[in-house]
Amino acid sequence: MIVAPMNRVHIDLDALRNNFRALRDRLAPGVEIMAMVKADAYGHGLIPCAQALWSAGARAFGVADVAEGMALRRAGVGGRILVLLGVRETELAEVVTGNLTPVIFDLDMARLLAEQARKSGVTISVHLKVDTGMGRLGIMPEEVALFVETLRTMKGLELAGFFSHFPVADGPDSSLTHLQGLEFSRILQQCGRDQSKPSLVHIANSAAMLRYPDTHFDMVRPGISLYGCCPSGRNLFIDPGCLAPVMSFKTQVLQVKDLPAGHGISYGHTAVTRRPTRLAVLPVGYHDGYSRKLSNRGKVLIHGQSAPVLGRVCMNACMVDVTDVAGVRAGDEVVLMGRQGELAISADQVAGWMETISYEVLCLFGGRNRKYYDDTQGGVAAGNSPG
Ligand SMILES: *Cc1c(COP(=O)(O)O)cnc(C)c1O
Repeated sequence: MIVAPMNRVHIDLDALRNNFRALRDRLAPGVEIMAMVKADAYGHGLIPCAQALWSAGARAFGVADVAEGMALRRAGVGGRILVLLGVRETELAEVVTGNLTPVIFDLDMARLLAEQARKSGVTISVHLKVDTGMGRLGIMPEEVALFVETLRTMKGLELAGFFSHFPVADGPDSSLTHLQGLEFSRILQQCGRDQSKPSLVHIANSAAMLRYPDTHFDMVRPGISLYGCCPSGRNLFIDPGCLAPVMSFKTQVLQVKDLPAGHGISYGHTAVTRRPTRLAVLPVGYHDGYSRKLSNRGKVLIHGQSAPVLGRVCMNACMVDVTDVAGVRAGDEVVLMGRQGELAISADQVAGWMETISYEVLCLFGGRNRKYYDDTQGGVAAGNSPG
């Protein structure tokens, strides 16, 4: 017998496809979308999401590592798969069998890849990553000329792409992003875009894609917007009606009980009832990604009404105040993130309570709980994941 878990993450694949189409509709003809499905599709489930995006027209995917790329290929996903963290020496053969496109930032690795390509009798496409200000992966601008020149001498490798990444495109100040865009264009020209013809030049994440059309180049790399969240919790950059949240997180009431005024709640008694209080105990805690930061801060939806978390969130349980919610009983549905009736709790709201960003909330909830896929448009063989 399969026992249904009490905590369930729901993934709305229709919303994912609609978000993809809404984003695509904003692009000039010829600009390609690389759907960022790294990190298990931001916690939404790599394969069902990539398959749904494929059915909506996505033909390029960004994954974190070779393992994710191979998982996509095994599931029959075609198109271009960019491996953002590059490749390790032990994974060279997979790059060939999986026809993966590694990001390159190291000439030694480039040599090994070229060798592998010649050995296998294929050409391996790579995308060169340049650090124009992110301070993360990639070669520095002054290294580009020599790097590209050396790459061109390596038989078996094709420099198919050239890209960079914005650190503050979601922030209030556009000046750094603007400067970075200019620097990126300058480097492109300097290393002779026409001469070496990397067919795909790209730099824009969701924020830049939505805010700065002049940064689109040949391809854009939206992630968070595909999943229906805004890159910055505060600024929308897009009509909020265009994007719908893809993930929701639900549990159910385990116990309802009445406490007198003056009764402490949960570890440390950080909350004490001020009035006779009806409490609902929920079977969800930090083990399930419902962070301890949500203690005395989070809110949930029960019977279409908002109920606050009281006291500390425990490992597998937390308590909410349902004194003002009529008729709550054990087994009733509780929405931790998502919509119930007229009300909704967004990933950004949860992120605010947790002092983090929606990205982390999605990875956390999605990574820790059994996922269920809603897919009315069909066209996807998306089995429900084991957890
Ligand atoms: C994750 C990532 C993106 C997507 O960023 P969003 O803010 O989620 O749109 C784009 N490019 C790179 C290199 C990334 O790592």
